[in-house]
Amino acid sequence: MKRLHPLDDLLDLFFPRLCPVCLRAMNRDERGLCTGCLHRLPRTGYHLDPLSPMAQLFLGKIPIERCAAFFHFTTPGDVRQLIHHIKYHGGKRCGLVLGEIFARELQPHRFFDGIDTLVPVPLHPAKLRRRGYNQSEWIARGVAHATGIELCTRWLQHTRDSRSQTRKGIYDRWLDTHSAYDARLAPDLTGRHILLVDDVVTTGATLLACAQALHAHGEPRISCLTLAAAQ
Ligand SMILES: [Zn+2]
Repeated sequence: MKRLHPLDDLLDLFFPRLCPVCLRAMNRDERGLCTGCLHRLPRTGYHLDPLSPMAQLFLGKIPIERCAAFFHFTTPGDVRQLIHHIKYHGGKRCGLVLGEIFARELQPHRFFDGIDTLVPVPLHPAKLRRRGYNQSEWIARGVAHATGIELCTRWLQHTRDSRSQTRKGIYDRWLDTHSAYDARLAPDLTGRHILLVDDVVTTGATLLACAQALHAHGEPRISCLTLAAAQ
């Protein structure tokens, strides 16, 4: 997917694309992040460990087949800056590229074997209007590019806006997240294996709520992939 148009060199000269982490100008072969940052950011390797800290978030709650997170989310730190860029500063293409790079790193480990559908964690429609795009969908598009697995955004909806969550107590927030996702438009998912895709996993409550909503439609197998993990 390298850009080969001769005008690209000229465009890079006048409008250099900056690495969102170190803010250096990227050369024409670098996409999403500069090569230095891509190799320096701390990888989790969670896909290699069935009892990884990410997998443990779901133990005893709902069966999650496989978990993968590209980078450790550090606060403050470079990965936090990267996720902010993807989420709030229009960095949707960066999300796509990183989704694709991560998927290519996971492929030799057979992480995608048997997975037939990618389902990004949806944004509430009001939030989607404000932000203009769903970062998780763009990450999932990158995974789809690399793997050829179909992407489905119709099955899962975010039906409750959680804007005021910071003013609520822990139980109310849990209840809000738990009931915020709805898969009533999904068909019977019996026998399917779905990969849920999100930008960051922190407590696991969002992925769990999405998994539970999908699980109610035929108990599909479910796996999870994020760009960053707070564990
Ligand atoms: Zn960089």
